[in-house]
Amino acid sequence: MKNTKDIYNILYNKFGEAKCELDFSNNYELIVAVILSARCTDKRVNIITKDLFKKYPTIKDLAQAKIEELEKMIYSCGFYKNKAKNLIAMANDVVNNFNGVVPSEFEQLTSLAGVGRKTANVVMAVGFSKQAIAVDTHVFRVSNRLGIVKAKNPLDCELSLQKVVDKDKWAQFHHFLVLFGRYVCKSQNPNCKNCELCDYCEYVKSNIKN
Ligand code: SF4
Repeated sequence: MKNTKDIYNILYNKFGEAKCELDFSNNYELIVAVILSARCTDKRVNIITKDLFKKYPTIKDLAQAKIEELEKMIYSCGFYKNKAKNLIAMANDVVNNFNGVVPSEFEQLTSLAGVGRKTANVVMAVGFSKQAIAVDTHVFRVSNRLGIVKAKNPLDCELSLQKVVDKDKWAQFHHFLVLFGRYVCKSQNPNCKNCELCDYCEYVKSNIKN
């Protein structure tokens, strides 16, 4: 816990109050953007959703979307066929089972088509200001490299992080690791020479020789 407290403080000094980099103005737009962001950059998603939210301003509009038209709009974010199918099914689930309002509980969110743990945790943390740790590729890589978890899969990582990070900091810690993974501890070329977390990092101890 001591290490994660220090790491949190260093990252807080670096990023301040970190936020989700997806553009959205309500929880309908948030859940759509998070689903689209799987294996796609937030920058690309923000370009797509600008027009998408004009064409489908409410979750009811999205529930009634024609799949071919939606596929065309989201083509550039990858896995567009699956994402289009999931978006329409998710919207129908929200309309039919939750009166058109995106729910706030983990079990309710994961009952929606195409919504897994990561998406549910992001919606809870960002949309409802709850404490949740969403594990994406950055969170998984950075937390394992640092050695604060030794996780084999995202679920293991999420549960392990919940044990070593104070609960009131889960959501913020998630944002920090995402940003740190995106801009410093990159997958291919981690910038270890200029890394503020160097002294805490298991990866650098075992991989970089002086
Ligand atoms: S020292 Fe390198 S591997 Fe470790 S957290 Fe920093 S950038 Fe990532």
